[in-house]
Amino acid sequence: MHRFILFLSFDLDVDSAEARKGADPVARSRGRFAARRGLFKVLDVLRKHGIRSTFFVPGWVAEQYPELVARIIDEGHEVAAHGYMHERLDELSWEEERKVFESMVSALRKVVGSNLYGFRAPYWKWSSHTLGFITSYGFVYDSSLMDDEEPYIISRNGIRLVELPVDWRLDDWPYLEYYRSLTPSQLLDMWLEEIRYASENNGYLSLTMHPQCIGRGSRIRVLEEVISEAKKLGAWLPTGSELAKNVLHNQERVKEHLEG
Ligand SMILES: [Zn+2]
Repeated sequence: MHRFILFLSFDLDVDSAEARKGADPVARSRGRFAARRGLFKVLDVLRKHGIRSTFFVPGWVAEQYPELVARIIDEGHEVAAHGYMHERLDELSWEEERKVFESMVSALRKVVGSNLYGFRAPYWKWSSHTLGFITSYGFVYDSSLMDDEEPYIISRNGIRLVELPVDWRLDDWPYLEYYRSLTPSQLLDMWLEEIRYASENNGYLSLTMHPQCIGRGSRIRVLEEVISEAKKLGAWLPTGSELAKNVLHNQERVKEHLEG
């Protein structure tokens, strides 16, 4: 039995947002670091530790970089949805958002067939219509909200959607890329403290990383250390769909999977 849950996931944005905004070649190249180098460093670490993880992928990325998505699937990981070109859904009209969902699902289904279970909103921004689109397109789980430290079920019009909540503090992007306010060692310290807290409380922890961020230089050691410590403390490291199915099976809580 495991003592706590670590939902480790990766957002493979590459240069989708920069391409949508018409950003300059250097800005786009920062995103493309994921495609040339970062993703492979992440996959190496996961393979070494025998972990299958979840990669949230914009539909456009699946079309532009099919070899990356094929590699992720070949290595046994889950591919989930993350917008079409990494749109901010709260800035779109109903019809624009419908088109984003349509092109995202169509692009990803060409790659994963019916095995498309999870959705995560780009920038973790929802519009007032987003929940309706998530349920009407048949997703089993969402991973965008920040209102709990445990997975839970959202019931809507007779449909049950699993929420795997997230937190900006548990995302590599703000600290290492956007504000660049922490060194990798400081970020690792904070995350190890959260891992210890989760293990002491039979808890749940969701860590979000980006191959173009955590895959750069020595930052990859943060991923190595996080996995080593989590395994040592008895973590269950499920994919998003494994976790969501477990939540549905146990009605509300996943604690039955844990000891104590
Ligand atoms: Zn993203």
